Formats: sequence, structure tokens, C-alpha cells
Amino acid sequence: MFEGAAMSGGPRHLATRCAHGGASRRGPGGANAPFQQPIAQSTIFDLGTSAEAEAIFSGARKGYAYSRFGNPTVEGLGEMVADLEGGAEALITSSGCAAVLCAVTAGLEGRDGPLVTHQDIYGGSFELLEILRGIYRVPVEVVDATNADAWLAAVSRAGAVLLETPSNPLMRLIDIQETAARAHRAGAPVIVDNTVATPFNQRPFDFGADWIVHSASKYLNGHSDMIGGCLVRRERLSAAQRRIHKNLGGTVNALDAWLVLRGMRTFALRMEAHNRNGQAVAEWLARRPEVARVHYPGIASHPQAGLFRRQMKHGGALLSFELTGGEAAARRFLDRLGLILHAVSLGGMESLATRPAMSSHRGMTPDARQRAGVSESLIRLSAGVEAIEDLLADLEQALAG
Ligand SMILES: *Cc1c(COP(=O)(O)O)cnc(C)c1O
Repeated sequence: MFEGAAMSGGPRHLATRCAHGGASRRGPGGANAPFQQPIAQSTIFDLGTSAEAEAIFSGARKGYAYSRFGNPTVEGLGEMVADLEGGAEALITSSGCAAVLCAVTAGLEGRDGPLVTHQDIYGGSFELLEILRGIYRVPVEVVDATNADAWLAAVSRAGAVLLETPSNPLMRLIDIQETAARAHRAGAPVIVDNTVATPFNQRPFDFGADWIVHSASKYLNGHSDMIGGCLVRRERLSAAQRRIHKNLGGTVNALDAWLVLRGMRTFALRMEAHNRNGQAVAEWLARRPEVARVHYPGIASHPQAGLFRRQMKHGGALLSFELTGGEAAARRFLDRLGLILHAVSLGGMESLATRPAMSSHRGMTPDARQRAGVSESLIRLSAGVEAIEDLLADLEQALAG
């Protein structure tokens, strides 16, 4: 059985809406229209008569002029992700980083305080914020969110808040509800990066988030064959927010949007398998003598098990673990993997493993890494949808090496 929740405003379950490509698919096309969303791979659109062009440009009538301003395939994807997250409207971007940039810009519009975020957000988002701070002079405050008091104090005086839960690679959780309550008292919008959890496992709008961002390159597309992103707003988008998206320039082409639409038809099906494998791998690793520690929200030893139960439906498919044998054991483990690929990213059908000290966190000194909790023997694993027996067999032979 799929567990996708029935949405408020519609009785159909998430798995059903995915299978049909969105809640409102049987639309204006009518009889004999293609059931699959057509790929409108065109830069330009016929503006029609001058009266029709006038209506399109003034906004009196919905229409298309130029694909950066709007494109039917891309809008189809926007409707689908807004529906899955339970938001009102969404904007699609050329990458997850472009989505973060767009959401942060929209979130800070008309606000005075700093953008408050935490140390262990996705590395690419962190580097993006360094550019905003260093070159554009955007005030950014980076807080250690494992200190809940410091986090909530910073959130209370924020211009906008960007948070990611679970964090990557240590799978630490942040209480979205508590954060949103504090931020809203200061009038600050809360942006949640829901890439790792996905709308299948975590519903940030239910806890008061204002924006959700995604790297669509991960679970939404699910096939490791494109780069894209999206930002979903709980309320309707303002004209200013649409203008920010259009003019920051990180819009996506129809073919890439279509690949995500295609991938999302199997989203609920894939997430069932991802969650099952993530949970099974985490429990299996936790019993192994070669493994010193497992970081996964869905196991009882997770230090925030209570928050996990309140905030997430499942533990997901991303986890990390430390080996008792240190760095040498971690390197040997990666070299011995056969089925599991040594590759960055997550959210595809294939299981992937990396050593963060050598990849995502290599810019830090070993001391700084240790303080951040990223040990030399830490392995990050993104569980795919393979048969669990094959995954465990590969892990077993790699650990034995
Ligand atoms: C991958 C990722 C991003 C960035 O997305 P891109 O599509 O690579 O630009 C942002 N946040 C999280 C949590 C990610 O995993």
C-alpha cells in the first residue's frame, strides 16, 4: 500500500496523483488531445493579432510569448510539484541552486534583517550564500543549529530563514514548526529545502513553511539524467515574485521539465522502494561490528527520534555511517563496492556512495571537519531501488575487505 497522504481539498492520494501526472490533468485538451504533456520545445510563441498580443503582455489573458517568461510544459511541471507539496503555485528553475537563489531573493524582498541559515546546509547552497554575502553584500547569518537556543534567537530577528532538514550528510533534524512560529513573529518567511526528505516523507507546509525548494535533479526526476529545481509557495505568487524568477534567468527548457514530469509519474512507487531500502540498510549497518555509528533519522538511536516521529513519515533513503577502521577502512570500502556506485548526488534509482571528507567537505581542514562532525571514515550512502538482498550482499563483501 502507498502511504501518500490524501491532500486537503482533494480526496485522491499522492500515489494516484503522481500516476496521472497531477490532480487536474483532464483539462482543456478535451477528446483526442494527447494524454501526456506535449514538449513545447520552442523559444518563441506566435503572438497573434496586435489585440491578442496586447492582452498577453498586459496580463489580461493567459498566453505565451517567450519561454523564459512562461512555457506550457514547464508550467505543467509547476502545477504538479505545487500539487504534490500542497502549495498554491510553483516556479521551475534550471537547477536546485537556481531555486535556492530565487527563493532567497523572493524571501528577502522588502525585508531588512539578515538571511538566517545553518552551518550544515547543502554545500552548493552555502557557496551560493557566500557569493551573495561577499559580492552582493546580502546580510547572511550562519548559525550552528545543533544549538537550538542560538538557532531560535537568530530566527527571531531574521529577514528570512533558509533551512534544510534532514541535513546532509549527518541527517540532523530542525524543528520546522518551532522555527516557523519564531520567524513569523518577526515577519520572516521560512524557506525549507525539502530535497532530501521529499513531499512523500515530509510536508513542510503543514508545519508553517512559506516556501519549499527542491533540487529536481534528485528524487523528483529520479533517474539521474538532468539538472533542475523548483520553488513552491504556500500562497499564490505575487507579480514581483514572478518577475524575480523571470529576470534572475535560471529558467528551464521544456525538454528538461518534461523529463521531471515523466519521472514524477513513478515518484510514489520509487519512494516506497527508496524508504524500504534506506531503512533496511540503516538497520543492517547498525548491527555490524565494522560500523561505529549510523546516522539515519528512521532508527531508534537517532538523537532526535521524537522530532522525527512528529515531522517525518519515513526515514528516507539517504544515510551516513562511520567505520571503526578509520579512513583506511573507508577508502578500502569504497574501492571494494561492486554494485553500489562511487558517485555524488542522490535520489536516482541506483545506490550511490561517497566519502564526504574527500568530496563535499574536502575544502575544510581535518580539524574543522571533525568539529562539524564529518569524520574521515564517514561514508554517505544514497539507497536506490535495487533488490535489498543485492545491496546487502555488496555492502557485506565491501566491509569484509
Ligand atoms: C543537490 C542539492 C541542491 C542543489 O541542486 P542542483 O540541482 O545540484 O543545483 C540543493 N539542496 C540539496 C539538499 C541538494 O541535495
